[in-house]
Amino acid sequence: MPAQLIDGKLLSQQLRADVARRAAELKAQGQRPGLAVIIVGSDPASHVYVRNKVAACADAGMHSVLEQYGAISQQQLLDRIASLNADPRIHGILVQLPLPPHIDAQAVIAAIAAEKDVDGFHVSNAGGLMTGQPLFRPCTPYGVMKMLEAMDYPLRGAHAVIVGASNIVGKPQAMLLLAAGATITVCNSNTRGLAQHTRQADVLVVAAGRRRLITADMVKPGAVVIDVGMNRDDDGRLCGDVDYDGVREVAGHLTPVPGGVGPMTITMLLVNTIEAAERRAAQLQATAVDCL
Ligand code: NAD
Repeated sequence: MPAQLIDGKLLSQQLRADVARRAAELKAQGQRPGLAVIIVGSDPASHVYVRNKVAACADAGMHSVLEQYGAISQQQLLDRIASLNADPRIHGILVQLPLPPHIDAQAVIAAIAAEKDVDGFHVSNAGGLMTGQPLFRPCTPYGVMKMLEAMDYPLRGAHAVIVGASNIVGKPQAMLLLAAGATITVCNSNTRGLAQHTRQADVLVVAAGRRRLITADMVKPGAVVIDVGMNRDDDGRLCGDVDYDGVREVAGHLTPVPGGVGPMTITMLLVNTIEAAERRAAQLQATAVDCL
């Protein structure tokens, strides 16, 4: 029997409806949640991503600011971030990566106030995730966890194999799965005998950026396969890292590309932004009570 598809679009709609409800509640208290998105350069794919993020914010009733820079120095960018850090209308700040080579991405991420770092890339948020007290979870792995949660998948004691070890997907994914009680294996481009590892997986998360890296013979029958990859096939169509047609015959559950992890990533950005705004509203309320 072919794998059941995990519908990221449908789950996103449900989660976004909840975000919109929470945004309306905050707005009623005079605290409209706000996200600032900064993009530098002219990469067409990055411009599509940020437009989608800003549109999703508006749909959820949140305030958003899009700042686009063709040419900007690192210092000017750091100055912009400092003023957004201090702006009470902004609860989340996102700088779209990659940045042009003259800008040090780590310095830029470090400049974002940790409590506004809705991408979850700041070193203090990465450390929080490592020690089990995350302020924000990076959006893509957080979305994967929401998918597993929606399936009611019993992660405790399951073997989760992650293919890819980047700071934005693979490593935080490993931390989140570990925190949920899974036994984890993390593979990277130096891993020998990749198939031996992937065949052990009850849950296989693939985030390598290599199309058709995972074929049917590399998947344990009945496994949950989450395809994070976003690549283009020879005809220019979006495809993942998993050989969809082959793996669908072996896996128990599979995410499609498009329509799987992609929509969840933007949704979790909205979730992180609403969480940031709610935290801020609670702080303001506590301060008001203290002043009474
Ligand atoms: P990256 O290039 O930063 O990291 C890729 C990781 O995969 C590295 O750790 C590398 O060692 C590993 N890798 C590469 N080839 C491998 C191989 N043959 N075997 C085992 N490991 C291998 O990429 P990233 O930013 O983590 O993104 C990975 C993929 O996920 C890309 O296709 C990206 O476009 C996609 N992505 C999708 C979303 C989404 O919302 N759907 C979000 C982020 C990234």
